[in-house]
Amino acid sequence: MSKVYFVGAGPGDPELITVKGQRLLREAGAVLFAGSLVSEACTRWASQTCDVADSKGMTLEDITSWLIEKAAKHEVVIRLQTGDPSLYGALIEMVQPLDAAGIESEVVAGVSSAFASAAAACESLTLPEVTQTVILTRVEGRTPMPEGESLRELAQHKSTMCLFLSITLLKKVQTELLAAGWNADDPILVVQKASWPNEEKIVRGTIADIRDKCKAEKIAAQAMIVISPTLGARDWKELKRSKLYDASFTHRFRKAEK
Ligand code: SAH
Repeated sequence: MSKVYFVGAGPGDPELITVKGQRLLREAGAVLFAGSLVSEACTRWASQTCDVADSKGMTLEDITSWLIEKAAKHEVVIRLQTGDPSLYGALIEMVQPLDAAGIESEVVAGVSSAFASAAAACESLTLPEVTQTVILTRVEGRTPMPEGESLRELAQHKSTMCLFLSITLLKKVQTELLAAGWNADDPILVVQKASWPNEEKIVRGTIADIRDKCKAEKIAAQAMIVISPTLGARDWKELKRSKLYDASFTHRFRKAEK
């Protein structure tokens, strides 16, 4: 019985695919990768005889018919998605036609670029008593935002926010953050091509100057914007410790010291 796997390729570094994703690539008869975002290097795990194609110029219909066609010939067919397939990946739009065609499918999770960006800059998206919440979102461009999800509204939580698909909308990001009560000198982080060998760029700035800094670095695509009260904590003198490692804190695996 053939199966189509939606595999998270990870953020770019071919080594950031999961062990399971790598194994499936080795077994795959056909792989369709999202060339606009997934490094072709990720397909290096596929066999010599594997039918590898780039979906860059394809419509959603082209993609699903390709997957259905290949599933008739191969047991393992892979749609290689950037980062994790559950985020901005048109997953359901691809799964539904497969369901309708009676083709089995499975999703293999991946490392999202949100996490690769935090890793690149050695940032923690959560810190005790600073913020315990991460909002994964985008700002409104051509895709409208549902009610209650404008950046202005979400930013009022003062939690960490990772903005996908928004690097060309930095001006709007600035306006909305300020309107939500953030300060012009609050820190902001932009990571382009997080984890891509030799191509990663990290830009640190403030809400006021990040746009100019990104312009100077010619960053206009494939970038994550991170806004967080935790940014730069590596250099803080005083840090509230995580309770998990606190000597006076009892939990499932350890008793508190007296
Ligand atoms: N499913 C993907 C996101 C796809 S949407 C994931 O989990 O990461 C595409 C957006 O993701 C881009 O516009 C950019 O904001 C972000 N992105 C993807 N790869 C990236 C990378 N290596 N570094 C920084 N941002 C990246």
